[in-house]
Amino acid sequence: MSEFSDLYQDQILDHQKNPRNFGELAGANHHADGFNPLCGDKISLNLKVDAKGIIEDIKFKGSGCAISKASASMMTVALKGKKSGEAEKIFHQFHDMVMGKSAKTPAELGKLKVFAGVREFPARVKCASLAWHTMEAALHDKQEVVTTDDGIKE
Ligand code: ZN
Repeated sequence: MSEFSDLYQDQILDHQKNPRNFGELAGANHHADGFNPLCGDKISLNLKVDAKGIIEDIKFKGSGCAISKASASMMTVALKGKKSGEAEKIFHQFHDMVMGKSAKTPAELGKLKVFAGVREFPARVKCASLAWHTMEAALHDKQEVVTTDDGIKE
């Protein structure tokens, strides 16, 4: 794992050890499950979106590698209180960043910038983006399990 050492910055380790917004969510009205077969990362995501489209609460459960867990944890922190449209915008910015598509990382990403380093490790891009793909599926009420293997072309 030493080749990934520069990815394991304090924030990622902190979120992996003490995931935020982890557990059941009472009153959730959007849900999706995600699976990354390449690494074995699993996520079950619940959102409570109010009538104005604001993400009132968001929680996840699951198991997986440090990157997938930290990404899910930091995503929930970043999206709580945001409008669903903003959440999708941040998702696209995050995706472009981890894919190395954006020349400059948008300031809106804030702490999520720590994941910029995963672009050097294609297998880890799927770990970092799993929670986000799952979030998008949940907002669109997709029933099928989100996988990073087929359907989603990184
Ligand atoms: Zn992983």
